Amino acid sequence: AYRSRSAFKLLEIDAEWDHFLQKPDVRAVVDLGAAPGGWSQVVAGKLGWGAEASKLPSGGYAYGVKSELEMEKKGTWSSPKSVSHQEVFDPLNIDALKEFTPSAGRGTIVAVDLLRMQPIHGVHAIQADFLSPEAADRIHELLSVKGNLEGKADIILSDMAGNASGNDTHDIESSLEICEAVYEFARRNLRSAEDVGRRRGGVLLMKHFEHPLLQKFRMEKLQPNFNDVKYIKPEASRSASREGYFLCQGWRAIDI
Ligand code: SAM
Repeated sequence: AYRSRSAFKLLEIDAEWDHFLQKPDVRAVVDLGAAPGGWSQVVAGKLGWGAEASKLPSGGYAYGVKSELEMEKKGTWSSPKSVSHQEVFDPLNIDALKEFTPSAGRGTIVAVDLLRMQPIHGVHAIQADFLSPEAADRIHELLSVKGNLEGKADIILSDMAGNASGNDTHDIESSLEICEAVYEFARRNLRSAEDVGRRRGGVLLMKHFEHPLLQKFRMEKLQPNFNDVKYIKPEASRSASREGYFLCQGWRAIDI
């Protein structure tokens, strides 16, 4: 079971847009605002970290990388590069554990959220504000693994929205603020076509609220800096809601 309804939006977007999550050159994905973890589950499945993990009942059982910060504190974690997975065992769900055969996927997945997230096999979870310097350092460290020397991401995902207050002006402003911050993050962390061994620039998928101000942001920031920017409204997104996604492909690294 996926932990969120949002997971279906990502599955839909991926299927409709050329399975961008599954391209063979995808080695590093950052999921911003990842809790409770539906999108991270989808990405882990696409990168072969065991689709089985997604089928497990959510909540009661977790398998995978324990919060690394927590493990580091306890001294049970040595280096994220040497051991990438540890079992987290919940006796409540022993049957699920018996049936689950973990598989080793490819690539690095980093999930960041202010909230704690139940572990997901193949996903490094960081509990932090994605804008904090600590998160930036940690993400860079996790991404700087063998074969990914620049420590950059091939794909950055953001399903964050400001807390809906019901006040339109406020909600639009906070959506714009988040989109600008996510863009800023992408500017620093997204791989460009010029980076070693790459033919295509990275992909940024971000949630936003429909509004002329967000269109302006798209025209001024996204459009000039990516080869292609699409507006997407997944079926799985309630039609009444004003949320949509920008799928930005081919980071051109002009704005750096
Ligand atoms: N895509 C997720 C899924 O499928 O499970 C759902 C994401 S939920 C709609 C948005 C998340 O963004 C919330 O969990 C919230 O805590 C997180 N968030 C908002 N601002 C954040 C920030 N500055 N840093 C980290 N996480 C943030």
